[in-house]
Amino acid sequence: MAAASLHYLQGYPPETLAHVQQMLLQQQVGRWLLNKYPQAHGLRTDGALYAHVQTLKQEFLKGSEPLSKVAYDSKLQVMKNALGTHTAVSRVQGSRLKAKREIRIAALFRDAPHEFLRMIVVHELAHLRERAHDKAFYQLCTYMEPDYHQIEFELRVYLTHLEGRGERLWAEALSP
Ligand SMILES: [Zn+2]
Repeated sequence: MAAASLHYLQGYPPETLAHVQQMLLQQQVGRWLLNKYPQAHGLRTDGALYAHVQTLKQEFLKGSEPLSKVAYDSKLQVMKNALGTHTAVSRVQGSRLKAKREIRIAALFRDAPHEFLRMIVVHELAHLRERAHDKAFYQLCTYMEPDYHQIEFELRVYLTHLEGRGERLWAEALSP
């Protein structure tokens, strides 16, 4: 196996990158992640995803604008780092201009552990309050998910693993 490109992990310390590189070369990433997160979350429909997002929104961001749509999106380009999107589509309704807020989550997260899904949902929810990826934004993320940074790191290791043609973990078993 060739040395993997580590572009998903830019900005992490060199020791960390060396450690990840070693795990990739020894094909240990799958075992490491499955050991930590044995199961997928099981929220496979857009309806289940919507309910999950609403629960978090109610808990942490009461009073923020309502979401008109939450869905998995197989067209989001994970490889271009678009793991999720939040959009505000403005529409004229009668005499008023109404913003419809939508959250889309890359389909990759449909087959993932609960922690990965929660991390990306927290990220997109934080954008309801904070636009830029600045200090206030990440403070809001870690308020909603204290392990936000660690989970993001593990997710990025998983993306690196997939890019190096590692096997997909947590994919739904075929129905009998
Ligand atoms: Zn963002």
